[in-house]
Amino acid sequence: MHDNHGRTIHYLRLSLTGACHMRCTYCRPNYDRNTKSNMMTAAEIETLVRHLVTEHGVTKVRLTGGDPTTRADLVEIIERLAAIDGLCDLAMTTNGLTLKRMAERYAKAGLSRVNVSLDSLDREQFAQITGVDGLRHVIAGIDTAIASGLTPLKINTVVLRDENETQLNPLVQFAADRGIEIRFIELMPMGPLAEQWADRYISADQMRHRLQTAVVRWLPRHQSSDSAKPYTALLRDGREVGVGFITPMSCNFCSACSRIRIAADGMLYPCLMGQPSGSILPALRPRYDPVCLDRALLESLNAKAAEHPQQGFVVMTHIGG
Ligand code: SAM
Repeated sequence: MHDNHGRTIHYLRLSLTGACHMRCTYCRPNYDRNTKSNMMTAAEIETLVRHLVTEHGVTKVRLTGGDPTTRADLVEIIERLAAIDGLCDLAMTTNGLTLKRMAERYAKAGLSRVNVSLDSLDREQFAQITGVDGLRHVIAGIDTAIASGLTPLKINTVVLRDENETQLNPLVQFAADRGIEIRFIELMPMGPLAEQWADRYISADQMRHRLQTAVVRWLPRHQSSDSAKPYTALLRDGREVGVGFITPMSCNFCSACSRIRIAADGMLYPCLMGQPSGSILPALRPRYDPVCLDRALLESLNAKAAEHPQQGFVVMTHIGG
């Protein structure tokens, strides 16, 4: 598929639910309650993804949310999607809370790999940011996921000024200890939480500056289709670790966008920070209508802007970050 700016779209970010065990202060407003109405079923999700893979060359799907692991039928969804010929990469982004118990089952069902969000290694700060006293469960989940082969596993950390800035060095050491990559993400002004943005935002350059006590050299690596600017960081203790910076605000990567986003209720989002362009549900319910589905997809591709707006419209957990 191509959008109206000539970009090839082959990557689906699919939100399975708006529900999450956590309520990260920068992600989900206090009043947000997930309503489970109108969510796509496992069978509808399979039909949708099969259509995108076989008719439109989508090769990569990332399950997100909310937290995908809150869905009782997640293993079934993974099994259905993993069986689709031509889907090369089936990944998931999660808060990691259930991985200790479930990682092996996800891997057996056909999941390729996971990204796990981890904003602090300080138990109290972790609880304060996420609303859950679950740091040890997330760390155990990360270790189980690595042991289960859900690799390469990447850590995602949103960096907040005067909050978890001091965690940059410990988190890099944590990643180096496990031989995994960590990506530091710039805070985005999303929906009703956008007004806090200016007080909490810190740029990737400032993050790198903060890391100079631990990192002696930054060796740029080839940037794949991924949104992160990847480096191999040479640490003072001689170890090397993969560190990426995701810079939606200081240096957007929209020209390389290869994504289309679909939320759990079937809403199509041409851009993470944009308005929805319509819904694919009428093309799946009461029965699969490929012509109607293509029409909705085309509308969404045509609605993709060259660059994202300065402020996002929706709550991150609804669209699936
Ligand atoms: N629940 C899963 C998780 O915790 O990773 C998946 C959904 S979460 C919305 C996906 C990613 O979006 C997380 O890494 C989260 O930290 C990030 N995120 C949420 N709000 C954000 C914001 N305002 N700016 C930048 N990243 C954000």
